[in-house]
Amino acid sequence: MLKKIFWWGTAVAAVLFLSFAAYVYFNRDLDRILLIGTWFEEPSAYPDWWIWGGERCPNAPMLLPSTGYIGVGWSDGTPPFYAHTGYDIFSPDGGDNRTPIYAAYDGYLTREAHWRSAVIIRHPDFAELPDITGGEQIWTYYTHMASRDGETSYIAADFPAGTREKFVPAGTLLGYQGTWSGDPNNTRMGLHLHFSVVQSNPDGSYKNETAIGNTYDPAPFLGIVEGEDRILRCGER
Ligand SMILES: [Zn+2]
Repeated sequence: MLKKIFWWGTAVAAVLFLSFAAYVYFNRDLDRILLIGTWFEEPSAYPDWWIWGGERCPNAPMLLPSTGYIGVGWSDGTPPFYAHTGYDIFSPDGGDNRTPIYAAYDGYLTREAHWRSAVIIRHPDFAELPDITGGEQIWTYYTHMASRDGETSYIAADFPAGTREKFVPAGTLLGYQGTWSGDPNNTRMGLHLHFSVVQSNPDGSYKNETAIGNTYDPAPFLGIVEGEDRILRCGER
């Protein structure tokens, strides 16, 4: 009996170890993600990791939507199991409801009636980067603007739930970073903005943001490049 338990235990441990090794090996982005903890310990120690909300990287068509460290990039994860659909910008300020979030580009804002932490902006006239978008309409999506329990929304009062097609110029204050993950059973999320550039359906509606194939890499839209140290920051002019 004990021998049987020993062998089963060994087999389970081996499987767990191999899974973890495979995860680390295939997850190209783990180094960037592991630095999120380092960032939260002392953001001021890493001045070259910062991006500044409301500012524009050199030659970028869009404004940076918030201030912080881009700790999770587009497609980060372990495809095909998981691929991140946008940028996670982690605030340098440890508190909820303090770090502003701005519209990245002129457009028309919608907040669905059941959205407590997210808004999406339609950009019908996005004429830049036609080699990427095909000159088509695009959307930008902003989420996690609520308290950890999801009870308090940090979206600006100008955009109550049910808002549709309200014009917002680039740089409009949309709300503040929060810690609501969207799932009451997962409350461990660090303070950040999730920002995605989302494709349009042929009928003009937005595609489902949770599938990476429905999104674009935000890098060329925001003027972000990846350094040799894997940090995502503003590109050179
Ligand atoms: Zn995210």
